[in-house]
Amino acid sequence: MQQNPVLRVCISCRKTYDRKDLLKITKDHKQGIMLQKGMGRSAYICKSKKCYSDSKIKKKLQKALKTFLEPEFVEIFEKEITSFNNYPH
Ligand SMILES: [Zn+2]
Repeated sequence: MQQNPVLRVCISCRKTYDRKDLLKITKDHKQGIMLQKGMGRSAYICKSKKCYSDSKIKKKLQKALKTFLEPEFVEIFEKEITSFNNYPH
């Protein structure tokens, strides 16, 4: 039986990818912004450097998640996506 991949759209380039290849950013109801986990409104971003290092990415995320992101968020986010990219999967 073939398993259909779960497809999601990158909020930066608007391309469709397999869920596994995207970094998920969630505005959790209780814990606030979480990466790869949490329940709530979510946005996805692909591994392309063009996308995650986009200067407008924070604004795009804020719009997608309908929330305000702390300035530190971008730093944490960049670290997370860098390790995510280096992780073989
Ligand atoms: Zn992208």
